[in-house]
Amino acid sequence: MGLRSELTYLKARFVLWVDAQGWKGLEDFSRRTEYEQAHLFLLHLSDCDGVKRVSPHQYEASPHKLAFDMYIDDGTGDIENEEVYKKAHEQWEEMGGDPVTILSNGGHDWGHWQVRER
Ligand SMILES: [Zn+2]
Repeated sequence: MGLRSELTYLKARFVLWVDAQGWKGLEDFSRRTEYEQAHLFLLHLSDCDGVKRVSPHQYEASPHKLAFDMYIDDGTGDIENEEVYKKAHEQWEEMGGDPVTILSNGGHDWGHWQVRER
């Protein structure tokens, strides 16, 4: 299975798992062009500038790592519940996804779900 297919398959299984927890997955801005990535970089919303450092969200330019962004509403409307993300990232890893990404500012990229070529 190619990496794109693997991401699609894993995402489908993961979204069903999130739903089964009584949570809501809110996917946002997953696949990006170089322009969109550069824009997020200039807004300090990403560590990747899209050219020198390609993001796993640039599906055509990133052959070895791919990602989608999905925020999780814990059922109360809160999309920043760290306990929910910790549990969800454990599940994501168990399904074969990458560990949670640590950003250059030291924070966790909680809403980022990534796979890589093995
Ligand atoms: Zn991301």
